[in-house]
Amino acid sequence: MKIAIIGTGYVGLPTGVGLAELGNEVVCVDKDEAKINALSSGKLTIFEDGLAELFEKNVQNGRIKFTTQMKEAVAPADIVMIAVGTPPHPFTKEADMQYIHAAAYELAEYLTDYTVVAVKSTVPVGTGDDVEAIIRKVNPTADFDVISLPEFLREGFAIHDFFNPDRIVVGANTDKAREVMKKLYQPFENKTQFLFVKRRSSETIKYASNAFLAMKIHYINEMANFCEKSGADIKEVAQGMGLDSRIGKKFLNPGPGYGGSCFPKDTNAMAQMAKKYGVHLNLIETTIAKNDERKAEMAERILSHLSDRNHGRVAVLGLAFKGGTDDCRESPAMDIVRDMLKVNKNICVYDPKALDNARKLLIEKVDYATDIYQACKDAEVVAVLTEWEDFRNIDFVKLKHEVLCSNIVDLRNIINQEEAIKNGFNYYCIGQTSQN
Ligand code: NAD
Repeated sequence: MKIAIIGTGYVGLPTGVGLAELGNEVVCVDKDEAKINALSSGKLTIFEDGLAELFEKNVQNGRIKFTTQMKEAVAPADIVMIAVGTPPHPFTKEADMQYIHAAAYELAEYLTDYTVVAVKSTVPVGTGDDVEAIIRKVNPTADFDVISLPEFLREGFAIHDFFNPDRIVVGANTDKAREVMKKLYQPFENKTQFLFVKRRSSETIKYASNAFLAMKIHYINEMANFCEKSGADIKEVAQGMGLDSRIGKKFLNPGPGYGGSCFPKDTNAMAQMAKKYGVHLNLIETTIAKNDERKAEMAERILSHLSDRNHGRVAVLGLAFKGGTDDCRESPAMDIVRDMLKVNKNICVYDPKALDNARKLLIEKVDYATDIYQACKDAEVVAVLTEWEDFRNIDFVKLKHEVLCSNIVDLRNIINQEEAIKNGFNYYCIGQTSQN
């Protein structure tokens, strides 16, 4: 099938590459010229495990192309997927719909034969109606259906998730659109669960799912707080809880709070959207407030291990919002560093993949290291903020030579506690009473 993807970012690019790998002809369009130039000349613009080889293969065989020209992508397409950003409005925290609306206006005039316009971006209920109205206004004779096609991929696992989806949700109000989507996803027929629902249900499923996962993270963080005071161990508690199939093991890892480009914005958007319908989502509102507070608490926790909280050297390991990605948007690590910078400018940071993105957000206020041990030189406290595999394998003997004081604050509970203590480190993690 011929597919146009509008927006070639963390969702649009892996989706385009995945669809090309399945044999479709994909044209990705983006208004960011630098991004399109890079991709057209074979340079990837994001880091995702497994993306590079599939990208190269499908660029070479001509199944995926990149352009800034909407017409080139949309006119021949059977399906146009909108994957532009829906960032939070800076004041209201609602989803900012300007990019979605602009994309709808821009694509409308180029629709030719029957086309399915699929909204892949995470959008408030009723967006499908708005997109439909915009297209109808610009191009009254166009033959099209607008569907909701929420994206559930996890950054860092985008390629894995594309080929192994838990479910494919299609919010379509016509049989014709449903048939087109069945054809597109035919390769997944016996591999996953398909859910064909009303467009408004589909739009809600995405927000409801992300809000639920955010609440689950908040819940285990509250349990970790309790364990720290009560003498229980959160790892054991989470393990015991997770064995209950009604609860499940996933998202029971305590940490510095959730972050990333989705959970913070989607919980806020869900809460704001509900208010418009006169519904107060108390659990979600509390989760949002407490998650924000948690990051400030974590900054305080790290600083408390310095001999002088204003000047002692802090080594920060990890800036991406989670392991496996270079994405620093709304990263708890970035918020924690910013909080610490308010009182202490003596911070050195390291991340295996996210340093370039972090630099754009932190500018020159911190020192940047090119490896773990350089970051830890003369540090009084080593803070682990992202769950990168490299940090699980720290060489404590080597580390001991670099640090000034042997304090590790592990906000991801990934460091080998036994080894750290054996090598003379004071080890502090989340959800245990004391370090030793
Ligand atoms: P992104 O910022 O990485 O990419 C969006 C791209 O759209 C940018 O490259 C931008 O230049 C482009 N764009 C904006 N307006 C355009 C226009 N009119 N024409 C052409 N290109 C345009 O965003 P993302 O992380 O890929 O997220 C996209 C959507 O998918 C959001 O709604 C997000 O909530 C949702 N989502 C994201 C993830 C994730 O893991 N990042 C997962 C599921 C859903």
